[in-house]
Amino acid sequence: MLTLDYHPTGNHFLQIPGPSPVPDRVLRAMSLPTIDHRGPEFGALGLKVLDGIKQIFQTRHPVIIYPTSGTGAWEAALANTLSPGDHVLMYETGQFATLWHKMATRLGLSTEFLGWSGEDAVLPAAPGWRHGIQADRIEQRLRQDREYRIKAVCVVHNETSTGVTSDIAAVRRAIDAAGHPALLMVDSISGLAAADFRHDDWGVDVTISGSQKGLMLPPGISFNALSPRAIDASRQAKLPRAFFSWDEILEMNATGYWPYTPNTNLLYGLSEALDMLLGEGLDNVFARHQRWAAGVRAAVQAWGLPIQCADPEVYSPVLTGVITPEGVDADAVRRLIHQRFDLSLGTGLGKVRGRMFRMGHLGNSNDLTLLAMVAGVEMGLKLSGVKLAQSGIHAAMDYFSAHAAPRALTHAA
Ligand code: PLP
Repeated sequence: MLTLDYHPTGNHFLQIPGPSPVPDRVLRAMSLPTIDHRGPEFGALGLKVLDGIKQIFQTRHPVIIYPTSGTGAWEAALANTLSPGDHVLMYETGQFATLWHKMATRLGLSTEFLGWSGEDAVLPAAPGWRHGIQADRIEQRLRQDREYRIKAVCVVHNETSTGVTSDIAAVRRAIDAAGHPALLMVDSISGLAAADFRHDDWGVDVTISGSQKGLMLPPGISFNALSPRAIDASRQAKLPRAFFSWDEILEMNATGYWPYTPNTNLLYGLSEALDMLLGEGLDNVFARHQRWAAGVRAAVQAWGLPIQCADPEVYSPVLTGVITPEGVDADAVRRLIHQRFDLSLGTGLGKVRGRMFRMGHLGNSNDLTLLAMVAGVEMGLKLSGVKLAQSGIHAAMDYFSAHAAPRALTHAA
């Protein structure tokens, strides 16, 4: 238990899959004095971030920036494009898909929740939570909908509760193959700026994201990337919306401003994060996360514990879900690791609570901070009485040693 006069030495290891560790460069940028959000300097900042964020979404179309968490941006996406009673097709990949589905129902939409059709021996209570979306199931369902009752297909790109990604291009192909006019809305809250995501190429109508994951910012701002079809849909949509309404925001954004007081200091942070990510190059950013994920998975595989994602094709580059042996409470292991080693891991959410924990490999990390995470988890598992097949820390060290980073540091002799 922390008391006010107790401060652990060294850095806390924030290895949950978001909020991610924030680089000092971003924190320093955020500490600049707050400026007049109607003044000339602000307009320049607004235009810079509104342009830069498009490059991150890989889109030519507008991106809305809200001063809310990702949940607000979920609501904005639905409220701007749909009308009461509209039917939406959603897909259960895990807890975040489940929460978005619940929100859509609460907003007065008629919802349908497709899911994986098989069984899972390791996590029988959550059979679909180890796999990505089966796009052919979406295609089949859309083909049955001859009257086009389904107005939108809503899916999660990187399911943060499981560590499984989904092939969004395949979902687009499924919609096109069925010749269906439904909008495609994608939650890439934890995928963006870590896993490859292409809003325009993949024909996404609304992409929802947040600041506190791949963008390496604190929580507090979130995004809707739009397509021209989504903007057209918003002109007919009748769900109530005011604060979240795209029209007034788009109008003011044209000159770099917002209709209300925006989150100035988080926008300083965003500007800095954009410089870092775009300076590195998105392909390098994606390769960096893939490599980190492979190093962490090498450790989990050496321990002999199941990775939650059952399909290597869709392993998340952002986080790895680790299933604990039957009878070992994953949350007790997490608590012990936090108490003993000042290391936070993600808890199992919803249907998998207590059966797994999540190791984040995103944000301001590097090989050595990830090795510290692996070491902390390995010690915690052993202290919890879990029998490990082999040393994971050595497996991760071997992986990182054998696979140089795409842009390893070089020093002059
Ligand atoms: N969707 C996904 C995939 C998430 O990972 C999260 C948060 O972790 C959310 C939605 C909800 O976002 P927020 O907690 O920022 O409201």
